[in-house]
This record gives sequence, structure tokens and C-alpha cells, in this order.
Amino acid sequence: MLNQFFRTRLPARLPESFTPSCCIVCKRLCAKEPALCEGCLAILPWLNPSVCLQCGAVAGGHCLRCENRAEPLKHRLAVFEYAFPVDALLKKFKYKEKRAIGRCMGQILGHAALASGLSHEVDYLLPVPIALPRLKSRGFNQAADIAEACSEIVKVPWTNHWLHRQADTPMLAGLTPAERRFALLGAFAATNDVAGKHIVLIDDVMTSGATTLELNRELIDRGAMAVSVWTVARTVEPTKRFSH
Ligand SMILES: [Zn+2]
Ligand SMILES: [Zn+2]
Repeated sequence: MLNQFFRTRLPARLPESFTPSCCIVCKRLCAKEPALCEGCLAILPWLNPSVCLQCGAVAGGHCLRCENRAEPLKHRLAVFEYAFPVDALLKKFKYKEKRAIGRCMGQILGHAALASGLSHEVDYLLPVPIALPRLKSRGFNQAADIAEACSEIVKVPWTNHWLHRQADTPMLAGLTPAERRFALLGAFAATNDVAGKHIVLIDDVMTSGATTLELNRELIDRGAMAVSVWTVARTVEPTKRFSH
């Protein structure tokens, strides 16, 4: 109905600034940003605060498993559990080039960072880079889209020039955590611009953390003051997942 109204009453040529958009989940008209209607916002799998961001276990706010593990990162932030429909949305964004989804998710991540107060202590947002062949075939880096939208909300600058992926690494699925770390050794190169700064790595999903740890090592080697990670979603250990 509303869609029909817009189709018939709006002038044929709209000013560039006015782009009626649709809710990324239900597709109903949603002329606001982030492009998610109230109904869909309420049903998304918001990450339960009891999930340990370091390992993904549901830990009741205090993960005994990670208590004695070194946490090299300054802080971690994730908004959703990597579960339906967020997992499906992120796949659509990545593989079907639905870039409005990435923009919306980046804005939500930005609002979450503002609400948590974490955005005040950081200097730069850097999207996790993808290898050149993959960039060429996909046409865009999904993490860069998220970083750009997030940056507009938190008013922290972003760049994709300071971090590069040296080589395409083998598929990490099926490898043990130690094998993943080994496969990623030397995979990234940072420029000296990161020196003295608190860097935030931006990505769509936080999983085993092997990529984040290798990036952290490279950034600290290049003189970064601190490294944090913000992602749209986090995988949660399946056996201990909360039901929504
Ligand atoms: Zn909706
Ligand atoms: Zn943990």
C-alpha cells in the first residue's frame, strides 16, 4: 500500500538525497536508517551479553576457559549472534552484492559502539582486508562497506590503505586453531601509519579469531598502541547456544 503511494505520488526524478529504502529483512518500505523496521529489529538475534566474545562460549558473563588465556586485544564488540536471519543476510550481502545490507549492519555496529562508549577511545577503523583475487571476483570488500557505514555513525575515520592481505590463504574451515594460526602467518602487512594509534579491526563475523590474532600481531609489530575488534556478528558454540 505504502509502496503504491510512493510509486504514484512521488515525482519521477527524485533528489539524490532522497532514496526511499526498504527494511533489509521484510522488504517493507522503511524510509529511515538503519533500514530496519521496528518489528524486524525486535526479532533479530541480538548477542546475549553472557557470551564470551573471546571464545564464543555462553559463559554467564565470566568465561573460566578464557580467564587464564592472554587477551591481546584491548576490547571486542559484536552485535548479533551469527544465527538466522543475520547469517542469511550477511551471506546475501557478501555473495549477492546486496550492499544496502552491509550499510545497514555497519550503521547498527556504529550505534552499538556509541552506546557502549568504546568509540571514544579509538583512533581508526580498518576493515579486515581480503586477497586481491577475491576482491577482483567479488568486486568489493564487505568489511570496507561495514567500516564506512560504521565510521559515519561513530565519527571515527576509516581507511583501507593501511592494511593489506599478502596472499590468498587456504580455506581455514576444518583446521585446528593452531593450524589456522600457522596458515595465516605473514598473511597481512600493515603500513607504518598505524604507529601510536588505537586501531579497530572491522569485519562481518568473528569466528575462531585466528585472523584477528594474526592482524593484531602485525599491527603491534608496526607500532600500533592497541588493537580492538568490532564485528556485526559472533559465532556462538552450537552446543551452548541460547534459544531465541
Ligand atoms: Zn522489517
Ligand atoms: Zn571464553
